[in-house]
Amino acid sequence: MKAAVYREQGKPLVLETLPDPAPAAGEVLIKVHRCGICGTDLHMTEGHQWQFQPGTVPGHEYSGEIVEVGPGVTGLKRGDLITALPSTGCGHCEACYRGNLALCHNAPGVMGGYAELMRVPASVALKLPATLSAADGALIEPLAVGLYAMRMSHIQPGDRVLILGAGSVALCAIYWAKRLGAGRIVAMSRSARRKPMALQMGADAFLQYGENETGNVVEALGGAPDAVFECVGSQGFLGKAIQHVRDFGQVISMGFCTSPDQLVPAMAGFKGVSLQFPVGYSLKDFQYVADVMDAGYVDPKILISSVIPLDDLPATFERLRDPNNETKVQVAPLTP
Ligand SMILES: [Zn+2]
Ligand SMILES: [Zn+2]
Repeated sequence: MKAAVYREQGKPLVLETLPDPAPAAGEVLIKVHRCGICGTDLHMTEGHQWQFQPGTVPGHEYSGEIVEVGPGVTGLKRGDLITALPSTGCGHCEACYRGNLALCHNAPGVMGGYAELMRVPASVALKLPATLSAADGALIEPLAVGLYAMRMSHIQPGDRVLILGAGSVALCAIYWAKRLGAGRIVAMSRSARRKPMALQMGADAFLQYGENETGNVVEALGGAPDAVFECVGSQGFLGKAIQHVRDFGQVISMGFCTSPDQLVPAMAGFKGVSLQFPVGYSLKDFQYVADVMDAGYVDPKILISSVIPLDDLPATFERLRDPNNETKVQVAPLTP
């Protein structure tokens, strides 16, 4: 099979021909139909602290069709379209007890979506509802990230919400803030490029950073935000979130900044701000996302800005490291 392999930090992924995998007991083999490119994949190949092991085939936002079923698998069959949690978990640590297998440090992740074929443990697979396409399926993971963060934040009905950023993490956060009962939602970003998309996902207003930013947010929300979701992941944005949030409000860090960031703890302290760093999701989150997509509330496929063949992945991957107009790029390994 053809696969895009991570070999060396700071270098493009390498297209290689690898042996076709076979499903072990408890696993299914899928033909990967779609796999989203995630900011985390870009971070983990850039040469910072956290890197993939050389030889890894990344890709954790995947969906595909089962072509072979391993021994002992029940409830799944050839032809089923599935997505999966990208981690199995050890089953006996705090993260696993909480159902957030993404944070289990004892079991390897289930990645490999940047390839034509992939083995998936049946225990973490989710069969897609009949109404969902492969493109929808590959959006379940990023949407589950937003759902989990929103659940962890305990926002209350009617809360004023500020979303910092307008990339795919931010857009998914807007989607769930709206679904889970937020009051007014304001999205704020550097450029107004994604304003229409932010409004379509559920934001009531869109602002740009700049002078009198705090005043503009208060005006657009009808008061200082009860919750600020930081979805940028660049230095200074956590501080910006603390600056905007109301006294005793909450700041939720979703940007997954992988370099040191400065903030003034006393400023957060004097405002009584609580700060959270939600990462991961449970299989239940995946199921809920699929159910909501099935019900057809908003078509999250508007997030998909490009679909590329596997051959174009290494070059596209490099292009995404720089400022770009993409929101969510999906790889379609079966496209010639
Ligand atoms: Zn991701
Ligand atoms: Zn575990």
